[in-house]
Amino acid sequence: TIKPPLGNLGHNHNVSASVWTLNFYGYAQSAPVQIEVDGKSLSSVASKNSPNMAGENSIIPDFTLNPDSIQVLNSARLLSDSTSSAALTGKNVFVTSTSTNAGSAVGYLGHGRVPSAMIDIAAMQSLAKGQTSDFGKTPYIALLALLIFIGHKSSRYSVKYIANAFAVTSLFILPSVLWDFRIISDNSWAVLMLATYVPIRIWQRWQRSMELTNSSSGLPNIEALTAVGISDGLDVVAAAIGQYDEMLANLPKSLHGECARQIARRLSVASGDSKIYATENGHFVWLEQPRPIEAQTEHLEGLKALFASPLLIDSILLDTNIHFGLDRNAESSAIKRVQSALASAGEALSKGKLYEEFGQQRLESAPWELSLHARIDEGLRNGDIWLALQSQFDFRTGRISGAEALIRWNDPERGAIPPDAFILQAERAGRIEAITYWVLERAIEASKVLNAQFYPFQISVNLSARMADQPGLVGKITEIMDRHQCDCSLLTIEVTETFSMGNHAMAQKNLSALRAMGFRLSIDDFGTGQASLAYLADIPSDELKLDKRFIQAITKDKRERLIVRTVIKLAHALGQEIVAEGVEDWETLKALQQMNCDIAQGYYIGRPMAFEGLLASLSGFETPFAQQG
Ligand code: C2E
Ligand code: CA
Ligand code: CA
Repeated sequence: TIKPPLGNLGHNHNVSASVWTLNFYGYAQSAPVQIEVDGKSLSSVASKNSPNMAGENSIIPDFTLNPDSIQVLNSARLLSDSTSSAALTGKNVFVTSTSTNAGSAVGYLGHGRVPSAMIDIAAMQSLAKGQTSDFGKTPYIALLALLIFIGHKSSRYSVKYIANAFAVTSLFILPSVLWDFRIISDNSWAVLMLATYVPIRIWQRWQRSMELTNSSSGLPNIEALTAVGISDGLDVVAAAIGQYDEMLANLPKSLHGECARQIARRLSVASGDSKIYATENGHFVWLEQPRPIEAQTEHLEGLKALFASPLLIDSILLDTNIHFGLDRNAESSAIKRVQSALASAGEALSKGKLYEEFGQQRLESAPWELSLHARIDEGLRNGDIWLALQSQFDFRTGRISGAEALIRWNDPERGAIPPDAFILQAERAGRIEAITYWVLERAIEASKVLNAQFYPFQISVNLSARMADQPGLVGKITEIMDRHQCDCSLLTIEVTETFSMGNHAMAQKNLSALRAMGFRLSIDDFGTGQASLAYLADIPSDELKLDKRFIQAITKDKRERLIVRTVIKLAHALGQEIVAEGVEDWETLKALQQMNCDIAQGYYIGRPMAFEGLLASLSGFETPFAQQG
């Protein structure tokens, strides 16, 4: 509200008001023709001094008038010097403060702050020329909103750029263009909008760019590739680095990113400067020129050769083991193709092949395998994956002497997943180590509780054949045993005969080392592998587990019975204990006892069950021979 000292001036005086509406930045924009002050109507200065104001409500100053061209005279000199007063003849004279610091100073478009009288003069000038029209602020806001919307919605970069450029230029150039047509407009709100919008967009883009790169290496990630899309005809190639986790374990964390970057650099150089996209766990993806499969294979062989020399990362030499996956299904979506290539690379790695080409028939299971990594970790954490224990009966003592740890997975989406299926998948997805060590730790925990009550109680843990020949195996198991302060001799490690397909010498070395630590060693599924007898000679074992296929035949087939009896004799001669698997009925158990078998395992003794179940069954256990004969 305005409270001028009208009382003192009285009503006979010719009072007018210098009142302006200012824009957001304090710049004058227009003046009302009339304003209400203390219930009385006053004319604005400009309208007071101009005729023909009928029908107008506001005056827009003529900012083309240069305020510097308005003659300013010093009032003191003017009063004392009568000659200069002649200069005032025929002019409108404003007696006003010329200070630009005073509260009366106002922004004048293009000239900064000026005494407010200058604006009155500009308004008078405007009235002399003829009134302008006022566009207001809405058109700018509407225009800017429209352009931002177009720029936002369009997926074409050219459209985005044109919309953005147009938004910026129109906002700043349009006011002066309009002014040439004596149309005044207020871009201040739109400029404010733009000033708010631009930093938000920049922040959003920065966020997005962060999502599209790997945090440790800064390499673009798979999402970045699928976001860009895959041009027609290109082949998608993925590389899987074997034992990547172990590799990183040899490096300080600060060098993990460098390791990934070095691998990407090698791949890029050899693939014609392709952009290399990376996952966090040692997989790399890029696009290759399509070539006939023979040429593509040759190319991949060349790439592999390039990785024959070790990586040198901050004076640490690292050997790499690289395998490739190839997707040539140009019709598939980018995301599917990348997933397929990755799954194939994982498969090539697990099979020890140079590369694997992704076949259409595998499209279905690929996403499952890919997400498996995360799902297994999640399952281990939330209890969807748990450990069942199946008791083993010792014929010699008539008591339960131990149990085998068998993994179980109740997947919320897929239901119960049989271990045979998901162990294989986990091997492919590079998660078998995590599972095995998890099982070992659970087995140790169970062993402690069970041995407190039922000592000596053996727990058997299955070691995936694929892990038997790994260089880091013994070290990792030693670390776990040390951490849990556990007696190795109460644990049995079961390996299948099939492990000989990997690095046999290394596997033998590992298993001997584990046995030297005190673990019992058991050969699982004995009799189903290819090299059973030869195997016995060079694997230092304590126990043979006869596969259920033989055991379940002994009550019906005389020949099978003879084989089992002979194998038991052979095992004993070699100082081995013998475990019969798959004992489902009393007759089988009885037959095995007569054959001098040491231990029986099977549904007849007990189903695999959760730890609490096993504990309960142990307390109430009565030997079947005392009961039935
Ligand atoms: P396996 O080591 O030969 O384990 C014995 C399998 O026979 C188990 O199947 C067990 O549930 C089943 N079985 C036990 N008694 C009977 C019986 O009386 N009759 C019949 N028909 N079957 C019986 P499961 O639990 O499905 O495990 C299958 C395979 O998965 C295991 O064969 C083992 O190779 C693998 N596996 C299970 N847990 C683990 C693990 O923690 N780590 C690794 N690496 N492999 C595991
Ligand atoms: Ca087993
Ligand atoms: Ca078995």
